Amino acid sequence: MDEWDAVVVGAGVGGLSAAVLLAQVGMKTLVVEKDDRVGGRALSLHGEEVRDKGVDWYRRLLGGQYSYLIASEPSLDEMVDNGILDGYTLDLGYHAVSVAGEGYFAMLRDLIGGYGDRQVIINPCLTGSWIDGQFYEESPLSNMQRVDDKLYTEFKRIGKRFFDFFGPFFDATPQQLEELDSLSLHEHLVKTGFAESKIIYDYLRCFGTLFTTINDPNDISMGDMTRYALQVIMPAVMKGGPVYVGGFTENGIMTWSQAIADRFIGFGGEVRLEVSMKSIEVEGDTVTGITIEGAGGEEFIPARRVVFNIPIQELFKYIDERAFPGDFTTRVKSLYGYGSLSPYIGLTGLPVPEEHAKRLMKTPCVVPRSEGFDWDVYMAWNIQSYIEPSCAPEGKHLFTAYLPLTEKESHNRELVMKAVKAVPDFLESVYPGFKDYIEWELYPVCVKLEGVAKSVTQAGSLKPDVKAPGIEGLYFAGDTARGYGVAMDCACSSGILCASAITGLDYGIK
Ligand SMILES: Cc1cc2nc3c(=O)[nH]c(=O)nc-3n(C[C@H](O)[C@H](O)[C@H](O)COP(=O)(O)OP(=O)(O)OC[C@H]3O[C@@H](n4cnc5c(N)ncnc54)[C@H](O)[C@@H]3O)c2cc1C
Repeated sequence: MDEWDAVVVGAGVGGLSAAVLLAQVGMKTLVVEKDDRVGGRALSLHGEEVRDKGVDWYRRLLGGQYSYLIASEPSLDEMVDNGILDGYTLDLGYHAVSVAGEGYFAMLRDLIGGYGDRQVIINPCLTGSWIDGQFYEESPLSNMQRVDDKLYTEFKRIGKRFFDFFGPFFDATPQQLEELDSLSLHEHLVKTGFAESKIIYDYLRCFGTLFTTINDPNDISMGDMTRYALQVIMPAVMKGGPVYVGGFTENGIMTWSQAIADRFIGFGGEVRLEVSMKSIEVEGDTVTGITIEGAGGEEFIPARRVVFNIPIQELFKYIDERAFPGDFTTRVKSLYGYGSLSPYIGLTGLPVPEEHAKRLMKTPCVVPRSEGFDWDVYMAWNIQSYIEPSCAPEGKHLFTAYLPLTEKESHNRELVMKAVKAVPDFLESVYPGFKDYIEWELYPVCVKLEGVAKSVTQAGSLKPDVKAPGIEGLYFAGDTARGYGVAMDCACSSGILCASAITGLDYGIK
């Protein structure tokens, strides 16, 4: 049996990013994926698939990506029987691409010479905030000087400008950036005087939560946000033209993963779907390959290197923890992620003003912490179909959103149901008559939206390195290994860092 130069386990964003760069330099690379499609948590499906394959298939697909369905209206069986979801493309929950794909996604795209034949079109959206019953308009990132008049007055009152938020860090060295990883957003807002205004505090906390998916500002790391502002947003702004906070991918987020997988295959790589890794094989302290299980039973795949794209917290299911230094094992076991409630609501028309429909909207509190949550539960929402029309049938609209939850909260069904109930009520309060437009509702919960929360103890440089300690030939890629930026972009940056550790090439991430 021929030995592979590298086997990548998992066709998530991180695994595919690493794999395509390895194949590009001529390494004989195999990707194995347990599901029937590439993309991992960046998953898309068509409503017709749910109708054809059934309720159990849909629940299994969600379960395989750390998600479960907590509620729906009408019942999922009724939706399937009546084809209510036909014509919709559902990304797993909410899958806005940060900087509309001009961050680490763009770096990878440029490194591999473009997306190839498959078009990856990411439609950008503007952003806005809804705080204490008021709408605050936001400009593209490239025009941040243009601040909403009401906010401008408030900034002026406390003697600050928006730019002062990152101002102290513009010349930060890589080492100073690493120090910022353990500085919290709350501490920063207090130190810099922004906390003197509740509106501005809430407004900047919304940015922090959008970036990190963490509700509690005491836990949001300033490091990752600052690094992203300096290393991703600023260079994108310098290129000229508008730079947006996010965007949605035509025909679903999975189009991106399919395009990268196509490029990988074009470079000579091989993808095997519907095969699960059972164990990582090691001799002495060196990787020899993996054992997989698929339709043909168990098989040993010899490989000089293994890239582990599964969230790192699951590592010890595949390899004995005693193979690693004790401090690494303890650290991995202590890592936690962040979950979310990610509603989809099918709408018979457009129940919000166009000024909101073209924006990614965010609000600091949909359910107060007094209901039993660690912190006030924020929500970001979109009329996704207004920005990216292919996701809903003509004449209808798809509302998508996410409400961050801690891992513990996301497992507590009673608590999550409080958030489920709060969503339509909140929307009705902002947009009277909203409920009359609702045709159907689905409420999936994800327990690992971000595999490692970007908290003050875990962000950026505090994550496990892409090269495993103690075992030669074992690497990590994905949002639980060292990498920077927002969720999918973070998984992509980690894949690039992982490929760099293997090939020795400098791809430009500091
Ligand atoms: C509901 C939801 C909403 C989100 N919204 C956003 C958003 O708006 N913007 C954003 O940037 N990010 C968002 N994210 C986060 C984003 O999806 C993840 O950060 C990113 O996709 C993680 O990629 P990854 O490569 O690290 O891991 P994964 O996607 O988890 O990839 C791991 C892969 O390994 C496979 N696998 C697991 N076990 C095995 C095995 N034993 N053998 C073979 N294969 C295996 C899995 O099937 C999977 O394909 C969201 C996530 C969820 C769940």
